[in-house]
Amino acid sequence: GPQVEPDPSKKTLVVLGTGWGSVSLLKKLDTEHYNVIVISPRNYFLFTPLLPSCTTGLIEHRSIMEPIRTILRHTKANVKFYEAEASSVDPERKVVRVLDTSEIRGDVIETEIPYDMLVVGVGAENATFGIPGVREHTCFLKEIGDAQRIRKKIMDCVETAAFKGQSQEEIDRLLHMVVVGGGPTGVEFAGELQDFFEEDIKKLIPDIADRFRVTLIEALPNVLPSFSKQLIEYTESTFKEEKIDIMTKTMVKKVTEKTVEAEINKPDGTREKITLPYGLLVWATGNAVRPVVKDLMDRIPAQKDSRRGLAVNEYLVVQGTRDIWAVGDCAVAGYAPTAQVAAQEGNFLAGLFNNMARTEVLEQRVRELSGSLNLEPGNAADISKEIEEHERQLRRIKDIKPFHYSHQGSLAYIGSEKAVADVSWFNGNFASGGSLTFLFWRSAYLSMCFSTRNRLLVINDWVKSKLFGRDVSRE
Ligand code: FAD
Ligand code: NAD
Repeated sequence: GPQVEPDPSKKTLVVLGTGWGSVSLLKKLDTEHYNVIVISPRNYFLFTPLLPSCTTGLIEHRSIMEPIRTILRHTKANVKFYEAEASSVDPERKVVRVLDTSEIRGDVIETEIPYDMLVVGVGAENATFGIPGVREHTCFLKEIGDAQRIRKKIMDCVETAAFKGQSQEEIDRLLHMVVVGGGPTGVEFAGELQDFFEEDIKKLIPDIADRFRVTLIEALPNVLPSFSKQLIEYTESTFKEEKIDIMTKTMVKKVTEKTVEAEINKPDGTREKITLPYGLLVWATGNAVRPVVKDLMDRIPAQKDSRRGLAVNEYLVVQGTRDIWAVGDCAVAGYAPTAQVAAQEGNFLAGLFNNMARTEVLEQRVRELSGSLNLEPGNAADISKEIEEHERQLRRIKDIKPFHYSHQGSLAYIGSEKAVADVSWFNGNFASGGSLTFLFWRSAYLSMCFSTRNRLLVINDWVKSKLFGRDVSRE
């Protein structure tokens, strides 16, 4: 709609982030009741489950992005969006400091935005545990830019390995793709990478075909710690068939430009140090707290014992505050940092805020009616009846249940058109792995895509890659 000034009779609701938590809140929020302001350095929603497929060009990155402007066009009332990073939150003065961090900047690059209510949905950043060399030499896999960087690097390694006169040793290094972290991100990426190699690179550049290797390094005794034992075994045996090397009980300690140094915990209790040369290294060791969240935690005494993010109560209110809520990977509510959890939390908050607004409207109406009761004694019976009806509605609304997460299951792609799924259906648990699960995985993710536009683009990419192979041109 057209630009309108904020309505002074409504509360200002500021939402930080345009990820899974914030966007599912915005999708269901009745925006008429608030002056809603969204702040995020990213002017789009990203469908992260298919991000690993973008690293090989199986899916083009724009197919899994949805502009926030398009999303906000469909809200009932006008919602303001500012493309900026929240650099700090002052819970005393109730303001958010925001900074334009993009390439093009105007005269104003920093300002303050006051809020009555604040939702923090800024997600997490990549954990590096302070391990030297990680920031300088590895690629993360969290944002669109990361996937694009990896896609370019894979082909750069391949083309460089195929360069005239390259030594055998250097070819082996360049074609050694190392993945650190055996969580779902690392596993899915390793699977996609091996597919890329089997389905396309091998055919296009046969002379180096037998040198390509993928190694997955995991500190714990097995990969996919959150999946059931049966599926862990299935994944590990599938990787063996796909010729992906899994090194478990191996902790990376240092990364240099061309090598990764790790320590293997041997069964006899001793440790062995190893150094592996690599061409591409993808770092997927999970989440760390963002600075803006850390800073906010430091300002709230009740958060002093929280380590992994903003501790929230069962209504997702940030402990120690009255008007700040947190959703998704930056919130500690006792659940895993997944899109599934973030989406349900955002959805819950929308319901909560819609109810709060309706409550206020009804209470206001009851106050008005009570006032007119004295002024119009003739209509007393009718007015009392109306008050009673409003109060009945109020009692119903006020009885808001706390947030309850309902786990739909875990799904992961493991390469060669196979997937693993731990699904809970009809109160029963159901674990499956294989090609049928792969079809289930594809249809589940397709149905979860943000929009019909995204869905069509993803199908188009799958068909295109199947018919013509992945596009290996390096832009
Ligand atoms: P995000 O979705 O990360 O969104 C955070 C938002 O905040 C972004 O818009 C960001 O730009 C913005 N932001 C960052 N800093 C600031 C700031 N200072 N101020 C304002 N805004 C800021 N989960 C599943 O359940 N299933 C899957 O299959 C799955 N696959 C995944 C695959 C990959 C490769 C990755 C990386 C994750 C996957 N996840 C999956 C996990 C899932 O993506 C996260 O749990 C989810 O994105 C968390 O949602 P969120 O809203 O908390 O954060
Ligand atoms: P993760 O935290 O799940 O896994 C990281 C792994 O890295 C851990 O197993 C850890 O032991 C290992 N590690 C840490 N330091 C190491 C070191 N120095 N050397 C070797 N290994 C090391 O991280 P993730 O895979 O990025 O996932 C993050 C979140 O996103 C999780 O909640 C996950 O469930 C979710 N996710 C889900 C899916 C899916 O459902 N398909 C896909 C991706 C991510």
